[in-house]
Amino acid sequence: MTSDVHPVNGKDAAPVGFQEHDHQSCVATALTSAEVRCKAEGLRLTPVRRKVLEMLLQEHRALGAYAILDRLRDEGFGSQPPVAYRALEFLVQNGFVHKIERLNAFVACSHPGAAHSPAFMICRKCDAVAEAQSAPSKGVLGAAARAAGFEIERTVVEAEGLCPDCTEKA
Ligand SMILES: [Zn+2]
Ligand SMILES: [Zn+2]
Ligand SMILES: [Zn+2]
Repeated sequence: MTSDVHPVNGKDAAPVGFQEHDHQSCVATALTSAEVRCKAEGLRLTPVRRKVLEMLLQEHRALGAYAILDRLRDEGFGSQPPVAYRALEFLVQNGFVHKIERLNAFVACSHPGAAHSPAFMICRKCDAVAEAQSAPSKGVLGAAARAAGFEIERTVVEAEGLCPDCTEKA
């Protein structure tokens, strides 16, 4: 077996999104694990929240709130912006979804459930997003922080460039 399955959970998960993988089971596994976690923690994964998560999981690409709202309307969830915003807020707060500041858009987390500092690789051509994990306390930044007596709690890493597909086409 080659790389047709990737770990959705797990500390050493490879960046998801640029690699060939069994995307159907990728979406199904992530949705199931979200359901299990919500149940265990008493979080309410309402139909609209579940739908928004599913949409983002389908993509491996960042979607803006308006694109999400459009799709919700097509799926019969109504067209009130607060519906989309509230669902996104819930998903971000509980770590199922990350906000990509650079794009003012949202992407499903590739390592849900694990405490992590995401590092995003964003393709400037097709908006594909892969999520890797950074270790803010290590490396050059960590050394600089230690020297300054600073304790890093959170970092935002958003690297912009070209994904393998777009590099090939260029
Ligand atoms: Zn996938
Ligand atoms: Zn994540
Ligand atoms: Zn690309």
